[in-house]
Amino acid sequence: MAKWAMVIDVSRCTGCYCCFTACKDEYWDNDYPPYSAGQPKHGQFWIDLVKKERGMYPWVKVAYIPLLCMQCDDAPCVKAAKNGSVYKRPDGIVIIDSQKAVGQRQIVDACPYHVIFWNEEKQLPQKCTFCVHMLEEGKIPKCVQVCPSQALVFGDLEEPKSNVSKIVASGKTEALNPEHKTKPRVYYLGVPKLFIAGSVVYGDVDECAEGVSVTLVDQSTRRSTETSTNNFGDFEFDGLGTGKYSVKFECKGYAAKTVDVDLKTDKHLGVVNLTRARP
Ligand code: SF4
Ligand code: SF4
Ligand code: SF4
Repeated sequence: MAKWAMVIDVSRCTGCYCCFTACKDEYWDNDYPPYSAGQPKHGQFWIDLVKKERGMYPWVKVAYIPLLCMQCDDAPCVKAAKNGSVYKRPDGIVIIDSQKAVGQRQIVDACPYHVIFWNEEKQLPQKCTFCVHMLEEGKIPKCVQVCPSQALVFGDLEEPKSNVSKIVASGKTEALNPEHKTKPRVYYLGVPKLFIAGSVVYGDVDECAEGVSVTLVDQSTRRSTETSTNNFGDFEFDGLGTGKYSVKFECKGYAAKTVDVDLKTDKHLGVVNLTRARP
């Protein structure tokens, strides 16, 4: 028995909305009994993109986080449903029964990820089915098929050679909003965290300082990470948590410089001027 799962690599998502459009095309006004009733034209987003902007001028980053039903192993929507109208299949997919769930608006409210939608005309809660009707035909979900960036990876966790198994086994994935504690079957890579960035300049000649060694030290763990400035003198450390850090700049012929940062939100250090080392 397969255990279906999806990995979403946020760092690969360009925000093109192909997944959204393909899902709408597949489900708008199309019934796939017994798994789903036709979706209305407007108001339902079985896969949507959460736009996340970080930083401020001159260092702004935008990420798009694809959001769909997490096919939770401990699903609040299953618990909220009456008459077994929402159930989890042995392969992990959570299905809303389109007949039994009629009139059960509380199912919409139960989802902490807000990915169940109310069909006013049919008085029915509806959501992503992991394209179960396509899986039965040996295909992968429509949104995964069309993603031009390979940001969506789908497969069987019971198959060790599948890409999802390998990625999940790497230990690099995380749950979106883990505080919900619903044991999602959708795993994420590259969820935006905090960054420290800046621009380094040779103060004596007022030019961009390329190739400067920049070392970040996490003050609580003493763990260090290194990078170097690019040809614009820019550098960045991303994927950081809140806390205290020091950033050290070293370049031959110039005095080493250290900047302390108490990181609570994304931080651009501005222009860091290096001064000539004393002979
Ligand atoms: S994400 Fe929401 S709708 Fe999907 S299984 Fe979890 S609780 Fe249910
Ligand atoms: S898996 Fe299928 S139903 Fe779910 S969001 Fe993707 S295309 Fe839509
Ligand atoms: S199709 Fe892929 S790249 Fe485009 S928005 Fe969806 S997940 Fe992102």
